[in-house]
Amino acid sequence: MTDRTLKVALLGGGTVGAQVARILLDDAEALTARAGARLELTGIGVRNVDAPRDVDLPRELFTADAEALVEGADLVIELMGGIEPARTRILQALGRGASVVTGNKALLAQDGAALFDEAERTGAELNFEAAVAGAIPIIRPIRESLSGDRITRVLGIVNGTTNFILDAMDTTGAQFADVLAEAQRLGYAEADPTADVEGLDAAAKAAILASLAFHTRVALDDVRCEGITKVTAGDIAAAQDAGFTIKLLAIAELVRDADGSEGVSVRVHPTLLPRKHPLAAVHGAFNAVFVEAENAGSLMFYGAGAGGAPTASAIMGDVVSTARRLVQGVPGRTNTSTRDLPILGPESVTTSYSIGLEVADQPGVLSRVASVFAGHGVSIETMRQRIDGAGAQGVSDADAIPDGRAELRFVTHAASEAALAATVADIRNLDVVESVTSVLRVEGV
Ligand code: NAP
Repeated sequence: MTDRTLKVALLGGGTVGAQVARILLDDAEALTARAGARLELTGIGVRNVDAPRDVDLPRELFTADAEALVEGADLVIELMGGIEPARTRILQALGRGASVVTGNKALLAQDGAALFDEAERTGAELNFEAAVAGAIPIIRPIRESLSGDRITRVLGIVNGTTNFILDAMDTTGAQFADVLAEAQRLGYAEADPTADVEGLDAAAKAAILASLAFHTRVALDDVRCEGITKVTAGDIAAAQDAGFTIKLLAIAELVRDADGSEGVSVRVHPTLLPRKHPLAAVHGAFNAVFVEAENAGSLMFYGAGAGGAPTASAIMGDVVSTARRLVQGVPGRTNTSTRDLPILGPESVTTSYSIGLEVADQPGVLSRVASVFAGHGVSIETMRQRIDGAGAQGVSDADAIPDGRAELRFVTHAASEAALAATVADIRNLDVVESVTSVLRVEGV
C-alpha cells in the first residue's frame, strides 16, 4: 500500500458532486490501489453549506470558500457548472499546476481555448470525460484510442431530454407540447427546458466532440443549431411511413470545400434517420455516439447520458487516471489542435432533405412542384401523398388534412443548402401550395 496522498478539492456538491464525494469516501481503499495514492477529499465547495443533500456526507467537509480549497489541492474536481466562478477556479487550479477534472460542457464549449492554453502553459492536466454523454466513455476513445486513425464523422444523440421527447412522440403520436409537459412532470425536462429543446446543450457537446475528433478548436459559436420545438406529430408520422425516425443529432464531419480543401462542419438539428440505423434504436433518455473512422469503420458508444451516479463514474475515471499520472510523474495528455481546419458554413454541406407541403388537391399540382425541384437541380428520391381528413382512421384532429387539400412529403437526394433553400422559396410562391409544413435533414441513407 502506498503512503503517498493527493489532496482532492471538490467544487460542487449537487447531483453529480455529492455522488463523487460518496465514491471518494466509500471506495477509498480500492481507489488508492488503482490510483497509486490515497485520494484525500479535503473539502466540498458549495454556495450554501447548510443545504440538505441527497447523500449523507460529513458536514465539516462543506465550505463556501472555494478559493481557499483550490489553493491547497493537487487535483480539483469542478462540478459547480455554469461559467463563473467555475472558470476562475479552474484557471486558479491550472495556474498553480494542479490538474482539473470537470463535467462543465458549457464552459468548455464557450471558453475551452483559454483553459487548455493555461493547462499547456503550466503542464497541468484538464480532463472532461463527463462533459459529453454522461457515463459513456467517448472523450478518451476519441482522444486516445482513435488517435492513430482518421475520424471522418461523429453523429451523436447527446441530449437525453430531447431524445426522451422525440421517442415519446414517436411511440405515442402525441404533439411536442404535450410530451414536453409530461417530461417535465417525470423530471426528464427542466422547468425552463430552453437549453435542451433549442439544442444549445447538444451544441456545446458537438463543439467539444468536433474539437477532439478533428484536432481543431471548435467553439459554441461555430455550431449551427436548430432545436426540436418545431417538430410536429405529423412530421413524426410521415417519417414513420417512410421508414424513418426523427432524432436530434449533433453532427461533426470532415467536408470538402468547393475548391477541394478540407474543413469541418458542426451542426445540431432534428434529423430523419432510417429505422435500421443503430442510432434509431436509442430510446428514452439514453445517449449514444456513432463514430466513423477511416480504418476502424463505424463504432457506437451507448449508455446513460446523465444522472448523478452515472456521471460520477465518468468523473472518477478521469480522477483515477489523472492521479496515476501525477503519482508516476508522467505528463498527461494535452489537447491537440494541430490541424486547425477552417469551420465551413452550410454552403459546403450537402444532405438529403424531407420536405412537407400542404397543397391544393387538384390535377397537375405534383408536376408543377416537381418541376421546381428539377429547376434547381434537386432530385427527388421519394414522394408520398396523404389526403386523410378529419375522422379518417388513425388520424387525430390536429393531424387531419383540410378538405380540398393534400399533404405531399418529398425526400430528396443529397443537395446543397443553397439549392434547397431556393427550391423551397419557389415552391412557397406557387399558387397551388398552401404552406411548406416542414423542412428536415436526412442522415444515414
Ligand atoms: P447541481 O446539482 O446544480 O450542483 C451544483 C453544485 O455547485 C451545488 O452543490 C452548488 O452549491 C454548487 N455551486 C453552484 N454555484 C456555486 C458558486 N457560485 N459557488 C460555490 N458553489 C456553487 O449541478 P450538477 O447537475 O451536479 O452538475 C454539475 C456539472 O456537471 C455541470 O457542469 C453539469 O453540466 C455537469 N453534468 C451534469 C450532469 C447531470 O446529469 N446532472 C451530466 C453531465 C454533466 P449548493 O449545493 O450550495 O447550491
